[in-house]
Amino acid sequence: MADDPMRATIIDGKVFAAGLVGRITAATGALITSHGIKPGLAVVIVGEDPASQIYVRNKGETTARAGMRSDTHRLPDTTTQAELLNLVQSLNEDPGIHGILVQLPLPSQIDSAAVLGAIDPDKDVDGFHVVNAGRLAVGLPGLVPCTPLGSTMLLKARLRDLSGLHAVIVGRSNIVGKPMAQLLLAENCTVTVAHSRSRDLPALCRTADILVAAVGRPEMIRGDWIKPGATVIDVGINRVPSADPVKAAEGKTRVVGDVLFAEAVEVAGAITPVPGGVGPMTIACLLANTYVAACRANGIVPSALDA
Ligand code: NDP
Repeated sequence: MADDPMRATIIDGKVFAAGLVGRITAATGALITSHGIKPGLAVVIVGEDPASQIYVRNKGETTARAGMRSDTHRLPDTTTQAELLNLVQSLNEDPGIHGILVQLPLPSQIDSAAVLGAIDPDKDVDGFHVVNAGRLAVGLPGLVPCTPLGSTMLLKARLRDLSGLHAVIVGRSNIVGKPMAQLLLAENCTVTVAHSRSRDLPALCRTADILVAAVGRPEMIRGDWIKPGATVIDVGINRVPSADPVKAAEGKTRVVGDVLFAEAVEVAGAITPVPGGVGPMTIACLLANTYVAACRANGIVPSALDA
């Protein structure tokens, strides 16, 4: 798409994710042909949470389409922690499984941290294990959380060289904000991490060449918080009532980001939409991590998956 000087370029995550999945599919085919290794992803879901069921189904289908083995383990919501830990242990020991993902949230009788901590770090394709957080912090190869990894890929595809740019990340969670900060530091950005106690957030955001919103507050970041020409990555996924009052009265909803898109698109240089920006990259990066984990488990250097 040609850049319009008056409006931001829309960073189309669906297109970019499709390209990435295509490269992963090709690399997976080559791994099977030349080494006889089929990357395997096991997804574990406990209980009937409807949103989780949809996520898990999508993950399974996308994994299989990429030519990988896809196993889904559906457990009842009465599953005990010991039962779940036993399953994780058997997946850790299964040489045909290279990635393990336990879908959150887990029922209240299960300690999520204990379960995530029991996953073999080399199979931790979500990148949530403390060992992988540590590897990322010190610059060792590991498995990186999918959403910040996908966001960084979008930034590099758009800007190429991020060196010296000031990145402001709003949000400091372990799954998005903090790993995003590490990834952008590794790209030689100057990084500021903001959070709920940060002072004068609008002024801070206006200093950003790269603004990453990972807050979980619908449309909090306004157009006048954005430096003209900045690149905006909106990680937020927030379900709000439909903009149409009649539909809203019927209980219909829509998904918005953490950035007020209609305002931001008039100021930013480039921006990810919600939906269709970071979201599609998250699942593509799950496949990328599974492919990388399968290669490393067999002492093979993974192919570069960048565009
Ligand atoms: P968390 O709730 O774990 O973290 C939110 C962060 O935002 C916290 O650090 C919090 O600060 C900060 N924050 C909250 N309110 C404010 C405020 N008023 N001003 C400044 N900072 C504030 O959320 P996640 O990181 O898990 O997710 C963030 C968003 O990203 C959500 O909308 C989530 O749905 C979405 N998401 C999207 C994914 C995708 O695939 N696209 C994947 C994962 C998440 P403090 O630490 O001080 O409390």
